[in-house]
Amino acid sequence: MSDAAPGPLGLFGGTFDPLHVAHLRLALEAREALGLGEVCFIPAGNPALRDAPVCPAADRLAMVERAVAGRAGFSVDAAEVLAARDSAPSYTVDTLERQRLRHGPLRPLVLLIGADAFARFESWRRWQDLFALAHIAVATRPGHELRVGAGSSALDAEFRARQGTAADLAVAPAGCIVPFAITALEISATAIRRRLAADLDVRYLVPDPVLDYIGSRQLYRTPHGH
Ligand code: ATP
Repeated sequence: MSDAAPGPLGLFGGTFDPLHVAHLRLALEAREALGLGEVCFIPAGNPALRDAPVCPAADRLAMVERAVAGRAGFSVDAAEVLAARDSAPSYTVDTLERQRLRHGPLRPLVLLIGADAFARFESWRRWQDLFALAHIAVATRPGHELRVGAGSSALDAEFRARQGTAADLAVAPAGCIVPFAITALEISATAIRRRLAADLDVRYLVPDPVLDYIGSRQLYRTPHGH
């Protein structure tokens, strides 16, 4: 049970269409670098700000579950997938509100996102409310550095006011923005879908249980997987 794990709880949302090894490295390195008790993967239901996923939510969830099954320190939350009715978009703010209710007002929650995603943060629904619900930890890597803080946007101002370090995460339940560097792995789900559509092998780009699932269901075989 996640509440028993000491240390802040990492929340890692993504489309995971499909989950690949750079996602797993981000979660693992976040756990180490930020002193997280656990990282909970949260597959998106209907992501609001991007193209519709190629795979149904149930398959994306199944791949994440298979990838993290039995891994200490990793868990999966199906709530966003289950809450997605029809094509109603899922929003991170709703997910964080749900997590906050579940874990109570005091447990430090840390939303994990890549620097690319953070650059578009101001377009997220009620983005300024997110700081009251969780810390934000931004994964950077060579070629995907943080380009926030020096400008005059609202996000620049929030970043300057909230920038912290890993040590800050355990002392408050929410409110800091903490950049952390991870191993650069130039892997994207888009490129994996393209390879599969071209009948090319994606072994070692995705964990073996995900490879097996994709193979058994013949996922991403058609060239609509942009
Ligand atoms: P797509 O190509 O379909 O956009 P993606 O893997 O980039 O897929 P998501 O599955 O939504 O997109 O990614 C979830 C999170 O993982 C995001 O915060 C994203 O920034 C991060 N991420 C994705 N790929 C990498 C990578 N190679 N290295 C570090 N972080 C990554």
